[in-house]
Amino acid sequence: MAVLVQKYGGTSVEGSERIRAVARRVAAARAAGNDVLVVVSAMGRTTDELLRLAREVSPDPSRRELDMLLTAGERISMALLAMALGDLGVPAISFTGSQSGILTDAGHGAARIVAVRPERLRRELERGRVVIVAGFQGVNPETKEITTLGRGGSDTTGVALAAALRADECQIYTDVDGVYTTDPRVVPEARKLDFISNDEMLELTASGAKVMMLRSIEVARRYDVPLWVRSSFTDAPGTLIGQEEKGMEQAIISGVTYALDDAKVTIHDLPDRIGEAARVFTALAKANINVDVIIQNVSAQGKADISFTAPEGDLPKITAVLTGLKDELQFASFDVDKDVAKVTLVGAGMKTYPGIAAKMFETLAANNINLEMISTSSIKISCVIRQEHAEKAV
Ligand code: ADP
Ligand code: ASP
Ligand code: MG
Repeated sequence: MAVLVQKYGGTSVEGSERIRAVARRVAAARAAGNDVLVVVSAMGRTTDELLRLAREVSPDPSRRELDMLLTAGERISMALLAMALGDLGVPAISFTGSQSGILTDAGHGAARIVAVRPERLRRELERGRVVIVAGFQGVNPETKEITTLGRGGSDTTGVALAAALRADECQIYTDVDGVYTTDPRVVPEARKLDFISNDEMLELTASGAKVMMLRSIEVARRYDVPLWVRSSFTDAPGTLIGQEEKGMEQAIISGVTYALDDAKVTIHDLPDRIGEAARVFTALAKANINVDVIIQNVSAQGKADISFTAPEGDLPKITAVLTGLKDELQFASFDVDKDVAKVTLVGAGMKTYPGIAAKMFETLAANNINLEMISTSSIKISCVIRQEHAEKAV
């Protein structure tokens, strides 16, 4: 029998009516002859609501207790779905992440899955039951502590279980009917893609498309899991994310994304000597700061300006690192700018198709949008612009 993993996101399980609708969809997949394992998210905005509650009780809650709290959201959904399936005459059993053998490192709030021991899940599937797993959580085997995987983590639970069970398919059910050329809530003309390669999906996700968690795409690529993004409200076929089909003519561009959560930092008048940039970025890396786009202008007086982008949330750390380096490296000053956005064009086809960057810059210029930084790889082009122009640029 084929093993199917289905993951349902927050809006798909928001309220009893939707949970019953999910139960009917799961029952149909099982009636069609599949072994079905379901991963659920917390209902609606439950996770945000729990976070708000925690901050109301304590301004800086303990990370351990926060994970205890947040994992409760997914437990509510899993038990309710098991009940709804029972009412349809479908034998079902729900498990937490730790009962499911999802083993993680000890990093509360952003734990990484280190291994999956799905023996218990497999036994229950063999007994003919639908298995329901609470998404977004696991357990650290050394400390025995409960962990969460980070926001959107149920996607990663779904794909990791599909990989561990060697499932025939992993279906991500959400509130849009697939992956679009850009966020359909921002650009109504966005088009749904029938297929997108793993590499392109990784770039789209890494550069800001918030349809799936980035780590879930990494796992799907590593373990070659056939991944579908589909709507839980319609029967539309959705988008297949998979290996690039050799010989198939590719679209030049598969999508456009934007991200508002980076800041631009500029270091002024850094002496233009060998090794200076290395010292700056080594210090930032040691502080665990993920630098993205970098540009350097060399001036005539033997000084250079270096600008880079990094997550806005890391600004306190960045400020501390650069303040500490100022005397040693003898640069004049640095400043930070939060009002920037990064717009990215992704497409595996652009590798062999000249003129895409020129056309992107022309289009932005024709719309009076100034480019502050540019970075490219073989399958993407990113431009840093003023934040107020982000949606227009997309
Ligand atoms: P879930 O709760 O099911 O995990 P998410 O809210 O995490 O759902 O992800 C679905 C949302 O992702 C959509 O509602 C859509 O607004 C957004 N999104 C952003 N970029 C894209 C894109 N390129 N294609 C489809 N959806 C996108
Ligand atoms: N409930 C968690 C969140 O809101 C995990 C998920 O939905 O994937 O981030
Ligand atoms: Mg999500």
